[in-house]
Amino acid sequence: MKIQLFTPAFRVDECLREIKECLEKGWTGIGFKTVEFEREWKKYSGFEHAHFVNSATAALHLAVKILKVQNGWHDEEEIISTPLTFVSTNHAIRYENMKVVFADVDEYLCLDPLDVEKKITDKTRAVMYVGLGGNSGRYEEIAELCKKYRLKLIVDAAHMSGTKLNGKVLGTEADAVAFSFQAVKNLPTGDAGMICFKNKEDDLLGRKMSWLGINKDTYQRDQGSYKWQYEVEHLGYKYNGNAIMAAIALVQLKYLEEDNAYRRQVASWYDEHFKVYFDKIKPVPIFPNCESSRHLYIIEVNNRDELLEKMNEADIFPGVHYRDNTEYEMYSYGKGLCPNARRLNKRILSLPLHLKLTQEQVDYIARQVIQYAR
Ligand SMILES: *Cc1c(COP(=O)(O)O)cnc(C)c1O
Repeated sequence: MKIQLFTPAFRVDECLREIKECLEKGWTGIGFKTVEFEREWKKYSGFEHAHFVNSATAALHLAVKILKVQNGWHDEEEIISTPLTFVSTNHAIRYENMKVVFADVDEYLCLDPLDVEKKITDKTRAVMYVGLGGNSGRYEEIAELCKKYRLKLIVDAAHMSGTKLNGKVLGTEADAVAFSFQAVKNLPTGDAGMICFKNKEDDLLGRKMSWLGINKDTYQRDQGSYKWQYEVEHLGYKYNGNAIMAAIALVQLKYLEEDNAYRRQVASWYDEHFKVYFDKIKPVPIFPNCESSRHLYIIEVNNRDELLEKMNEADIFPGVHYRDNTEYEMYSYGKGLCPNARRLNKRILSLPLHLKLTQEQVDYIARQVIQYAR
């Protein structure tokens, strides 16, 4: 049997029940379950505002767009970000014609506050922070820096559904936090995301912008008699989430804590195997006081590419998170500015981590890693 990096797990009957409600009601679009999921997410996470959208990529774009408009930022002003991420993170900055300034990562594979501070100029407007694999990294120090230099803080929390720092959900003091509910993330649907703005005005504008700039959504209009008489105030996008995805999300949210606990269990099995081999297999550490969602289990080895091949021969299919973005042509102007990311980029490997993985499989994977890592 092939062991994949990710295998989504759904509570099928419960999901179907929720979806059935949408189909019977004849309401599959924005509203109904989307409103219910936003309410449940706020209750779970403690965020004051939450807007359900069709992906984290859309959420990240809205974050940059709304903060840019509301704060009067200009094209070519700068947002500091990481080279070790999915390209969505940095594309979101480019969609708004702002400049991605790359800062280096630390041992947590998250932005290093020391390097971020060095990269601040009089054109810097925000920091885009990615909690890689669910790890908080030095998030608190980054938040402090943002306060000190009056920068906005955007968090790409695509991996962080359920991550806690000092016992509470991470990110409630950030200006905008984007979550992904894409099929392989910790709270899987088909494709969906959430944007949580700190300010009410940003949230309101975000809602309009995700629905083509229309000032009332269809659901609200359906309540009154002037349903056709909406106003179009902005050149918005079609970024809203839909009730079918929200129906699945409502079920998955109920199990998020339990699911993440299992992910941490898998991670601790791996840790247990590797602890006597620390000279050749180095698991990326989790920041103290962080309860990671454990989206990923990343190890650092000396012979990454060779190990990947050996694993594939053993029917195990790990991943790499991520290719250094400055290796892509469009971000190549940042090449050489982040030596740590560049070095780690060639040495890291994400081992299979999902809810269907058994302890026997973890043992088998770990044995292969121990045998072939150098
Ligand atoms: C998956 C992912 C995204 C994009 O999420 P979508 O919901 O697929 O748009 C953004 N950033 C990171 C770090 C991701 O892993």
